[in-house]
Order: sequence, then C-alpha cells, then structure tokens
Amino acid sequence: MKQSMTFIPTLREVPSDAEVKSHQLMLRAGFTRQNASGVYSYLPLANIVLKKIEQIVREEMNTAGASELLMPALQQAELWQESGRWYSYGPELMRVKDRHNREFALGATHEEVITSLVRDEIKSYKRLPLSLYQIQTKFRDEKRPRFGVLRGREFIMKDAYSFHATKESLDEAYNKMFTAYQNIFSRCGLDFRAVIADSGAIGGTDTHEFIVLSEIGEDTIAYSDTSQFAANIEMAPVNAVYEKKTDELKPLEKTETPDQRTIEEISSFLNVTKEACIKSVLFKVDDRFVLVLVRGDHEVNDIKLKNLYDATNVDLATADETKEALNCVPGFVGPINVSENVEVVADHAIASVVNGVCGANEEQFHFQGVNIDRDTKVSQYADLRFIQEGDVSPDGEGTIKFAKGIEVGHVFKLGTKYSEAMNATFLDENGRTQPMIMGCYGIGVSRTLAAIIEQHHDENGIVWPNSIAPFQIHLIPVNMKNDSQKDLSEKLYAEFIEQGYEVLLDDRPERVGVKFADADLIGLPVRVTIGKKAEEGIVEVKVRKTGESFEVALSELQGLLK
Ligand code: ATP
Ligand code: MG
Ligand code: MG
Ligand code: MG
Repeated sequence: MKQSMTFIPTLREVPSDAEVKSHQLMLRAGFTRQNASGVYSYLPLANIVLKKIEQIVREEMNTAGASELLMPALQQAELWQESGRWYSYGPELMRVKDRHNREFALGATHEEVITSLVRDEIKSYKRLPLSLYQIQTKFRDEKRPRFGVLRGREFIMKDAYSFHATKESLDEAYNKMFTAYQNIFSRCGLDFRAVIADSGAIGGTDTHEFIVLSEIGEDTIAYSDTSQFAANIEMAPVNAVYEKKTDELKPLEKTETPDQRTIEEISSFLNVTKEACIKSVLFKVDDRFVLVLVRGDHEVNDIKLKNLYDATNVDLATADETKEALNCVPGFVGPINVSENVEVVADHAIASVVNGVCGANEEQFHFQGVNIDRDTKVSQYADLRFIQEGDVSPDGEGTIKFAKGIEVGHVFKLGTKYSEAMNATFLDENGRTQPMIMGCYGIGVSRTLAAIIEQHHDENGIVWPNSIAPFQIHLIPVNMKNDSQKDLSEKLYAEFIEQGYEVLLDDRPERVGVKFADADLIGLPVRVTIGKKAEEGIVEVKVRKTGESFEVALSELQGLLK
C-alpha cells in the first residue's frame, strides 16, 4: 500500500479525551475515529488488522469443527420475548421499530436467532452435534462506553454456538473451543489467562473467560502463583438482599416487565439509588418475604432472574418451590438461610446464599451483620468472592495473587436454558423428545485489537507482533525528490510484494522526521530507510521492537528479512 494513496490520519498530540494507551494510540496512529459515543470507524490500517485477527479466528474455529454462517443483526422482538430476554435484558438491548410499528432488537448476541434457526431444521440426534459461528457487528447500549473500542456500543464479535444430544458431547465441543481460544490469543501475541468466570458457581467448570492481563482492565482475577488455578473474582451482579417480616412488606405485583415496575418503590423503600435496583425479585420463604436486587448488566444472571421470576410467581411461591426454582438455576441468589434479623446484607452475604442454593450445607452459613465468617468456605471454588491476596489457592497449590485484565473471550455451557424456553428439541436414540444441550462462545474481535495494542506499545507508538501487523515492512524513502531514492524504493516495493511481503511505502512528500515519527506510531515490525547511500546500494534497517538499526547492502537485504 502506498501511503500517498491511503488514509492514515496521524496525530502528534495525545487526544485529551482518550484515557488509556490503546485508545490514544489508535487515534494518534490513524487507526480509528469516533463517530458517536462508543461508535467508531475503523480506518484502513485497523481494518487490515481486524481482518488478520478474523483470519486467525476463522482458522481456529474451523479446526474446532465449527462452520461459519451469518445471521441478521436485526432481530424480531418475538424471538427475544420467547426466551424472556426482551424483558430481562434491560436498556443494554437496543430496540427499534419498523414502519409497521413492529419491534426489533439490534443483535446484542444471537442465542435467540440461532436457537430458532436450528430448532426449525434439526429434529434428530443423528444431526447433532452441530457448531456454528459468525463474525459480526453487535450492538449493546453500554451504560459507560469507554476506552475506545475496548467498550463500544457497536463492536465486532465472533460468536459461536453448539448444539448437542448429550452432556458429554457438549463437554467435548467446549474443550475444543477452549483450545481454539488458547491458540487464537497466543497467535495474537497476547499475554492472557483462562479463568473460571462465574465465581458464584460451585465447581467452576461451566464457564471460562479469557483475560488479557492489563492494569487498565475492568476485571480482577485471582490466580495461584504456582498452579493453573485462576478465576474472575468480579462480584456477581447482585447488590443486596433485603429481608423483612411478611407484614412489613407488601408483595409486589408481577407485571410483564419486572425490571421497570418496582424501581421507584424499592429505591425509596430501601433508601438506595434507583441505579442500585435496576431489577428486583420478591419471593416468599416460609413465612418471610425476601427481596433480591439484581444489577441488570449481566446477561447470564438476567436469564436466571427471568426463570426465577417466573418460577417463584412473586408472592405465592412456597419455600420448596422457591428452592426448586433456585436449584435449577445454580449460581443465582436465593433466600435460603437468611437470618431473621438481617436488614440489608452486603454482597458478601450473598455468596453464602448462593452456596446454599447450590446445595452446600446450609448450616455452614451464618450472617453476622454484614460480615461473613470466612471460615465457612465450603466446596472447592464456592467462596471465591471472599478470596484475598495471600490466601492459599483453593486447589491447595500455591498462594493467591490478584491481577487486572480485559475480558477478550468467554466460553459458556448454556445447557438447555434456551432450548427449553424456545422449544428446540430433537428425538433421541430411543425416540424420546429432548431439549438440545447448548454451548456459546464469544470473542470480542475489536476489543482484541485494542487489547493487543494495550500490551504492545512503547512511548513512541504501537509495536505490532508480526502475526497481526498491518504490514511487515515500512519502506521509507528519505527524499522523494531524489530520483535514485524514489526509483529504488519503488523497485524494492514491487520486489517485496512479489516475494509475498506486505509493505507500506511512505511515498508522501513529507520531511523525513515526520515520516519516522509516523512510522514509530504505526509500529510495523521492520523499517527500511532509503537515503543518501541508496546510490551505493545501501539502506538502513530498523527493528521496531528492539530499536536496533544497521546498514545493509541491498544484496543482503532479502536474506536478512527472511
Ligand atoms: P463485559 O463483561 O466486558 O461487559 P460481557 O461479559 O458482557 O463483556 P460477552 O457477552 O461475554 O461480554 O461477549 C463476548 C465478548 O464480546 C466479550 O468477552 C468481549 O470480548 C466482547 N465484548 C462484550 N461487550 C463488548 C463491548 N461493549 N465492546 C467491545 N467488546 C465487547
Ligand atoms: Mg457486558
Ligand atoms: Mg463479562
Ligand atoms: Mg462475558
């Protein structure tokens, strides 16, 4: 590519509204421009890198046995109503109406679309398992879009979905995806960790996140300094459990949209901000009502909330029904074993409740005001929310350390949540109707691009790993007015391309200082400068990563680059 003919608007100044390095550098090196909050254009250089990441993703997905397809971003509301997420997803789901006043969601994710697609076509176990993926733009009206494309409202995701007749088959696909993810992020040159994602779930084998280590990350992971153990310790999206005697709290009426209905009421009742009670569930255990407030920004828990909400039927559920409802959604918060005099208990208490729900011995949990007895750890990963630096790792090996990171991928065993809600069934070997067992697997492609820059830069600009650099070689003629320099650079440009290299030729009539500064910003692995010694057949080679530079005779250049 010739720089005079493309579009790389570099900036000398650090943009004042860009907080993190990757965002600053993507603007400065001419990779992106903001269109609206959380909405970006990817300029030619960024587009090349995105395509390279996508290529790696495609290769690894295909190896894992998944086939690529492309689903609509515009999704009928009916599908989301079937799954229940039309009501539970909250304001993050962008909704639009067509000219006939029919409602649609802009795809935030595609479980609904793919479940309906597969449901309509696959009826027999003989056609399972099936893994499908797409690379597509997703829409999420994030509450706080920030850090450039790291948290956008429109972003590129690879999302894969698998359908199975048996749990074993799901496990197999999950493991293949896990390996594919490790390969993808390694090939992108990232320093990452696969971590247990849902710290509320006992066992922690059903969902993992891939976290790129970075100080600016919004996730905190706990990992063992000697073993493989690692988990995301981000709190589950629960703010508070509130408990009152039956007579002090009126049962709340159930309506179609639980999330919007009670916010006013609850926030004033609890004397907390409205934001703190985006969602709420009230249910009855024995003779007590328990109100659980749930933050609305976690899809998985939204599904659970929906199930819970349906199952408990608010004011009428018996204790057993409630427990049953909670048991079928392990990991969600429940009212089990909440002591009588608890007023508002903080997040910590909730983990115990979760553990109770997940079947741990209820006797082991005691609320002491807002403190929880940390010795009540039950099963291996049950109490990750209490884990602290310096603790013995839950697997017994090594000491716990904390690190910050960026979630770039997420694999999840969905089970039958969607297939049951949306009636995606098949006939098994014995002719019995069964819900399909599902998995889903996401990668933030555009977020990965920024995460790579976050880990690969220095004070002068980006330092691309070879595997995903937009070009391998930056050819820089010092003076375009000098014919021999110009001719030699054109000649090298053509030769390199012929040999299969990707080359960016800075043929702009700029001062060499400007060219060098831009070259450092853009960060291609090798820079070849054609200057005064061009007539003698000598050029200068500079390695971006190490900064070393040396003069090379043209005759030796090819061998050197190999
Ligand atoms: P986060 O916790 O950062 O909000 P998430 O858990 O909501 O992410 P998933 O639903 O697991 O995201 O989506 C799969 C992947 O899509 C994530 O692992 C992440 O890499 C990417 N992703 C999610 N939200 C965004 C966003 N707003 N901007 C860019 N990438 C995103
Ligand atoms: Mg999110
Ligand atoms: Mg997440
Ligand atoms: Mg996630």
